[in-house]
Amino acid sequence: MTELAPALVNYDEAISRYEPVIGLETHVELGTVTKMFCGCSTAFGAEPNSAVCPVCLGLPGSLPVANRTAIEYTIRIGLALNCSIASWCRFARKNYFYPDMPKDFQISQYDEPLCTDGWLDVTVDETVVRVGIERVHLEEDTGKSLHIGGATGRIHGADYSLVDYNRAGIPLVEVVTKPVPGTGALAPVVARAYVTELRDLLRSLGVSDVRMEEGSLRCDVNTSIARRGSGTWGTRTETKNVNSLRSVERAVRFEIERQAGVLDSGGRIVQETRHFHEETGTTTAGRSKEEAQDYRYFPEPDLVPVAPSAEWVEQIRATLPEFPAARRARLQREWGLSDLDMAALRNAGALDLVAETVAAGASPEQARNWWLGELARRANETGADLAALPVTPAQVARVSELVASGALNSKLARQVLDGVLAGEGSPDEIVAARGLAVVSDDGALLAAIDQAIAANPEIADTIRSGKTAAAGVLIGAVMKATRGQADATRARELILQRLAEPG
Ligand SMILES: [Zn+2]
Repeated sequence: MTELAPALVNYDEAISRYEPVIGLETHVELGTVTKMFCGCSTAFGAEPNSAVCPVCLGLPGSLPVANRTAIEYTIRIGLALNCSIASWCRFARKNYFYPDMPKDFQISQYDEPLCTDGWLDVTVDETVVRVGIERVHLEEDTGKSLHIGGATGRIHGADYSLVDYNRAGIPLVEVVTKPVPGTGALAPVVARAYVTELRDLLRSLGVSDVRMEEGSLRCDVNTSIARRGSGTWGTRTETKNVNSLRSVERAVRFEIERQAGVLDSGGRIVQETRHFHEETGTTTAGRSKEEAQDYRYFPEPDLVPVAPSAEWVEQIRATLPEFPAARRARLQREWGLSDLDMAALRNAGALDLVAETVAAGASPEQARNWWLGELARRANETGADLAALPVTPAQVARVSELVASGALNSKLARQVLDGVLAGEGSPDEIVAARGLAVVSDDGALLAAIDQAIAANPEIADTIRSGKTAAAGVLIGAVMKATRGQADATRARELILQRLAEPG
């Protein structure tokens, strides 16, 4: 199949003429100990085909039993997304044939999802966008194919393929939004903000480790555009497996530019799945959806219906945590931060780190300065995530405490952090091992001060004549003599005292 590739239209120009509608389908791997319909382990990284049994291999005569914890987690997600929870629903058999599906069908939910009709608010540029949630349903994951040989890692050109069924049967929740119209130029940012908010919410619920890079949170992005004022919606494309927050934004943006190019050149948008390419930020055509595949769904005959009692749902509701948006509002109030400061913390991925550092005893001001200043700079240098730096919030809090008590100045504190980041131990161990401590002992300071005065007689005279600003030069000399360890405030006091004494 060849694809005509009309020129992309510049984003601003595309948005001036076309109105986008977005939609997101997010797959969440639940963090249960066992699989969805059997007792096999869900542990990541096990030997291929070691976490399998007759049920998840689909051997004749085996029968599935639904995982209660997975159902509970799905209800937690549904409640957190303001959904209605079905009092009775069924699993459905979705029939399709694929080598990584040992049963040749997938147990999913079709017309009877467990949770329906909710919403999630996301904030973009101080505007709240309410994203409608169509449904939250539960299903099982498939196995994983590995194509060996060939350049692309895809099946085309491969010499042979291997299949690992460890993942087959891992519980997956799919969260499907309603179409989101009316976001205009902000559509790509809204898409990203939604996935970010959903990820943070899921993490707070403790139902998944939501690691996009490991595939425990996977996103398909639907995009369509229609001429402004036409009163219609365009044909949508579905970009599959967009695996980072940044890619979500880029995928929507690219699709808007591409679809505008197609429509401008008199073409039509084909309803299809598309693949996103991380390196180029572009999408290419995948499977056409013009002729909808018939999965011949029918109610799964091997499973009883799911009928959560109202009492159970209320018990689950009572255990819901403080949601991220409410927590952010509370922390912002407690820390006295502006919206801008709060956004900076969040964008840097520093919110939890600062919260933990404050919990470990630092002031919000200090915690924020360390994480957004010195530590952010170091993370940037190495291209690492802030949270991946080998320093804990408790260690940062200890360094702040040492500065606040006057035991370290900021220069020495940075040296202590150097030691922590180099794996030399705790802040206190590094202070002891490197002999880092502010010298505020008057005897030691006076010796250095007298040397400095003797070496700079003209400066000393200037200070004696009343121009005390010149003391900075002598403080510099004292700092140098003490390898940066002098207590600068005390040194200044002593210098002025010394020079005020009758010579
Ligand atoms: Zn199994």
